Amino acid sequence: MSRSEEEDKPCRACSDFKTWANKQSKSTLAPPSKTNTPKDCPLDKEDLGKSTWGFLHSMAGYYPDKPTKSQAEDMSKFFQIFAQFYPCEPCALDFQEDIKKNPPKTKTQAELANWLCERHNTVNIKLGKPVFDCSKVNERWKEGWKDGSCD
Ligand SMILES: Cc1cc2nc3c(=O)[nH]c(=O)nc-3n(C[C@H](O)[C@H](O)[C@H](O)COP(=O)(O)OP(=O)(O)OC[C@H]3O[C@@H](n4cnc5c(N)ncnc54)[C@H](O)[C@@H]3O)c2cc1C
Repeated sequence: MSRSEEEDKPCRACSDFKTWANKQSKSTLAPPSKTNTPKDCPLDKEDLGKSTWGFLHSMAGYYPDKPTKSQAEDMSKFFQIFAQFYPCEPCALDFQEDIKKNPPKTKTQAELANWLCERHNTVNIKLGKPVFDCSKVNERWKEGWKDGSCD
């Protein structure tokens, strides 16, 4: 496949399901709906995002309260590398810009979790989604809600 053919190919991880399904659909019939798509298909942008945020926030949740210098440096490097390879190019480019302006804060668990929460909120604002209250980030991703609903 030539480079331009490769570039023209729809990118599932860069598209929401509806856009991707419409581009793929070669028939005049309605494109498949997400509910009747098998579970073991490549991730679209929403599913990839949701799973990735789950992983990143959980990683920040279990980061040490007092990391060593080398752990703090490695976590910072992790986010720089992550931003280069996140498999939705437009998302990755914006995330690279965002972390250039707001470099990873890795001195403590609380600092990292809050920094990541703010990065996620930057994306939420861009997409018109609600802003998350970062004072509750450890309840959401580590301890469970104070009302006991996750116990
Ligand atoms: C690095 C990155 C960049 C992205 N960039 C784009 C982009 O440019 N364009 C695009 O269309 N999509 C982008 N996405 C995907 C997008 O952020 C969402 O994941 C996707 O739209 C699905 O949204 P959702 O409503 O299911 O909830 P998500 O935003 O995926 O959130 C999952 C859960 O996290 C919790 N949560 C929400 N906000 C926060 C927060 N601030 N801190 C902690 N927890 C929170 C909530 O409980 C929520 O249900 C990106 C994803 C990542 C990981």
